[in-house]
Amino acid sequence: MGDAGPARLVLATHNRHKLGELRAILSPALPGLDPAAVVSAGDLGLPEPVEDGLTFEANALIKARAIVAATGLPAVADDSGLAVDVLGGAPGIFSARWCGRHGDDAANLDLLLAQLADIADPHRGARFVCAAALVTPDGREVVEHGALVGTLATAPRGSHGFGYDPVLVPTGERRTCAELAPEEKNARSHRGQAFRALVPALVRALGS
Ligand code: IMP
Repeated sequence: MGDAGPARLVLATHNRHKLGELRAILSPALPGLDPAAVVSAGDLGLPEPVEDGLTFEANALIKARAIVAATGLPAVADDSGLAVDVLGGAPGIFSARWCGRHGDDAANLDLLLAQLADIADPHRGARFVCAAALVTPDGREVVEHGALVGTLATAPRGSHGFGYDPVLVPTGERRTCAELAPEEKNARSHRGQAFRALVPALVRALGS
């Protein structure tokens, strides 16, 4: 990625799983955009900004604005997480560091399952939520949202995806998100919804 042609769009993520999902979601929606012109913040060696926003939307904008300031290119960013009903919407914006360390998916999942150990099935509602932001060098900002509603399994299942995928069972499904094929997850996921909603603004920004 990013080996040929000038970069035209930066995806503001250092998470390779998310990057793969974003590229799979955006490529078919932007057929005029050379995939090689889409680079990630990680590929460019850009530092991750401090995510001190209090909402998913605020954090997505922080990430996209930082990329635009550093590169002068249009940037898209998402901020996402798991909102558990019985925890009043937590882990929420703290999803990536729920165990106290940033990005330790296994420990985050273990802690969540321990916290919910005594919660019966009818009360295990949860959703993945996502805010996707596009910021352009001329200062335009667009934010779209998506949610994937479901329930939490009592033990992890499946090997696809990342984060809390092994425990979220989408409504109407028996499989966890980690048991869905990646394209099945993308077709209905919070991130898929938010980024597909962002496509018209992206087409306008890129002229593709
Ligand atoms: P972010 O990278 O700051 O947006 O943090 C997102 C965190 O929320 C991830 O580290 C995961 O723990 C969780 N998360 C967000 N989206 C997903 C998903 O699609 N599957 C599983 N976990 C997710």
